[in-house]
Amino acid sequence: MYKRNNLLDLLDKANYKNADLENNSVLVRSCLNVPLDDEGHIQDDTRIIEALPLIKDLANKAKRVVILAHLGRPEGYDLSCSLRPVKDSLETHLGENVTLVDDLNSDWRNEAEDYVSGKRVFLVENIRFFDDENSKDLDEQKSFAKKLSSLGDIFINDAFPDYRESPSTYYLAEFLPSYLGPAFHKEISEFAKLTSQEKPFVAVMGGAKLSEKIDVLLSLGEIADKILVGGAMAYTLLSAQGFAIGKSLLEADKIETAKKILEKYSEKIVLPIDHLLVDEFKEPEKAEMYSIVDDVNIPEDKMAVDIGPKTIEIFKQIIGEAKTIVWNGPMGVFEWDLAGKETKEVGESIAKNLQAYKLAGGGDSISAINKFNISGFDHISTGGGAMLAFLSYETFGTLDVILDQHK
Ligand code: AMP
Repeated sequence: MYKRNNLLDLLDKANYKNADLENNSVLVRSCLNVPLDDEGHIQDDTRIIEALPLIKDLANKAKRVVILAHLGRPEGYDLSCSLRPVKDSLETHLGENVTLVDDLNSDWRNEAEDYVSGKRVFLVENIRFFDDENSKDLDEQKSFAKKLSSLGDIFINDAFPDYRESPSTYYLAEFLPSYLGPAFHKEISEFAKLTSQEKPFVAVMGGAKLSEKIDVLLSLGEIADKILVGGAMAYTLLSAQGFAIGKSLLEADKIETAKKILEKYSEKIVLPIDHLLVDEFKEPEKAEMYSIVDDVNIPEDKMAVDIGPKTIEIFKQIIGEAKTIVWNGPMGVFEWDLAGKETKEVGESIAKNLQAYKLAGGGDSISAINKFNISGFDHISTGGGAMLAFLSYETFGTLDVILDQHK
């Protein structure tokens, strides 16, 4: 879990509200990585809505606003990952023109210097179209960051989910006075509440791959009282304990690591004791095509796609006694119409625990929360990988590089 002395104090100082916006041009790194359909229409604009409070405030106050963001995983220039739909959406929300800049060498900056009212918000085209943003070479990264820094006087990072250290998320802060935007600030303030957690602290983990959650399990093992594990990742752990898992998902190369985790945190990790099964990994059309096994062991020809009713009861009881809860990842294949009940029940039992501080996050937990209309969380983190990184390691580069300026 992230650790830093005087974190709350530093967060206060690094708040963008302390920056002199009125007299400066501001470079903002936003998270605008929205899903697009095949025709390039935005499918879900949650990320734009979350980025708006800062962009609106800056559009009102700052001399000029230059937004940096990425969309998708383009390799070089790829029109299907253009930020143009985002620009259109921003214009609608802001009620003012947004200029899309796809050539950082062009003279659009001079135009901006003239300060034509109504033409002060600029969105640089997908930052990953620029090769140096994706470079692994430190000199190239730094020189690109330096070039970007000439676009503004102040840097504000509001993109907690984009935590990979790149010129636009990290190195820029080495060249400009830097601050945290409200979305980033809020994420960290909420996570900080986990470090001062009241006990019992219960982590509820799920999702597809154990390999992606090893570091977080090791880190949570140090601070949580119980770690409830569901989802496909549970089956590699069960297999490591010697149980039969049938055709359930297994990461065979992680068995040894799984054994070590289980040995280290044997008192804390709680695994499923019964399961919802199918014959093959294909969404069943009828409820009768699912079965339940009232045993930890799974028959050879079956595959577990969710936790069973007894496990749900055990999880609910532990959740009900918790004072701090963090939830990441579904308990099973919640996308299937006739499965998903288990993730819903576990999610609802967390939300219903009124005495606990409750934080959820990770792409699929948010999808489940939305799908089942679960409300009552104190905070829902939008950064899936970023959340895991924050919970796993004691440092967080894109945050630290900014906080270091406010010591
Ligand atoms: P993650 O992205 O790691 O949070 O994993 C979420 C995905 O794991 C979802 O698409 C679930 O359908 C899938 N999943 C959860 N439990 C299982 C399971 N028992 N077998 C197969 N897939 C699962």
